[in-house]
Amino acid sequence: MTRNSIFLPAIAFAVLRMLVSFTFQPSLAQAPTGSGVIALTGARIIDGTGRTPLQQGTIILSKGIIEAVGAPAAVKIPPGATRVDLSGKTIIPGLINSHAHLNVQQGATLLVRDDLIRRLKTYALYGVTSAVNLGSRPADELEALKLRDEQTHVMLDRARLYTGGVNAIGKTPEEARKSVDRLADLKVDVIKYHINGNPNDMTPDIYGALVDEAKKKGLPTFVHIFYLKDAKGAVEKGTDVLAHSIRDQDIDSAFAAELKRRNIGYIPTLTRDLSVFVYETRPAFFDEPFFRKGIALYREEVDPLSNPASQQKIRNDKQAQSIKQALHQATHNLKILSDAGIPIAMGTDSGAEGNPGRWQGYFEHVEMEMMAKAGMSPMQVIVAATGGAARVTKVDPKIGTIEPGKWADLLVLNANPLDDIRNTRQIHSVWVGGQRITGAH
Ligand SMILES: [Zn+2]
Repeated sequence: MTRNSIFLPAIAFAVLRMLVSFTFQPSLAQAPTGSGVIALTGARIIDGTGRTPLQQGTIILSKGIIEAVGAPAAVKIPPGATRVDLSGKTIIPGLINSHAHLNVQQGATLLVRDDLIRRLKTYALYGVTSAVNLGSRPADELEALKLRDEQTHVMLDRARLYTGGVNAIGKTPEEARKSVDRLADLKVDVIKYHINGNPNDMTPDIYGALVDEAKKKGLPTFVHIFYLKDAKGAVEKGTDVLAHSIRDQDIDSAFAAELKRRNIGYIPTLTRDLSVFVYETRPAFFDEPFFRKGIALYREEVDPLSNPASQQKIRNDKQAQSIKQALHQATHNLKILSDAGIPIAMGTDSGAEGNPGRWQGYFEHVEMEMMAKAGMSPMQVIVAATGGAARVTKVDPKIGTIEPGKWADLLVLNANPLDDIRNTRQIHSVWVGGQRITGAH
């Protein structure tokens, strides 16, 4: 052993310290000034639980987390905190899209990671700070998981992502279990499967095995359904969430009671059905400034959907036209289930590959408007899009409400959404992990 080697650890440590300081400096530069603690003051706070709003409340954000929330007299602002006066504004939790897709579209030229990130940034631009991806394609499954894994320890300028990987499937009960095991090994957040109502569907013994295996792995199951009988089959086997509306007939009160007894979540995805037929003509919203905010991402789908030949095709398509009635039924069933006290979660199916016109970011606001038109109160809709969605999806105990210990994911509005749910479009600012996002995407 030479004398030098004794000093090596000390030198290595010094070099390491230098590297560490270099590595951390850029993120420190992005951090808010002062102590890094931020006090948002003066705003009406709708906390996502359904509680009566707090007038002129204070929220303390620290290290990406909500540290305190309450009336000014009850919340002490730490010395050195950066104060942000939000008098006249309304703060709600960042929105959760409980039925999203984060897919690269066919023929995309960007790297998969970059494409997924621009989609998450567009969600965030619209105040959707969490997206639950209910179906990857093989091409984007692993990148979605990587983005999910890094979001707890980087400064986020995009929506949080939770992901179910590629939908579970099997031709036998054993295959279905293996499919779930593969996803569980990948550490997905949820399991999604389909019952389409056609002869190719998994039979109840197969999807029953799938659900059972997911339960063993501690993963919640979400099912794609259309028909009441399929929803009943899925619930009978222990599925946790109906990921679309029941659209063929009225939901009977016995089944509504069963959903309530089992605490089954229900995601209406009304805009999913709207998207099937609304491009039979050029929709007026293509010209809305709020829609145009997302045009950098939306443009590649707006152009083909504006094509008269494609519009004619939708007008002539019996299947597409039949969805108008299905949407009417969905709206009616949403009111039935909301009145019956079933946990409702806002979700849109936006971003699904091969289904143009499901706008990531914009459609979540249309969805909320449609939920209100179906008969839910603005408060019920806000809860369904925040705290209620968190309870239904169970992907992260730290999202959904403005309470101590939760991620500081916030949507600040210039107008009160309790007066009119369309006021969720009056976005003042969006905060993810305690950082105000800039809107560049
Ligand atoms: Zn879907």
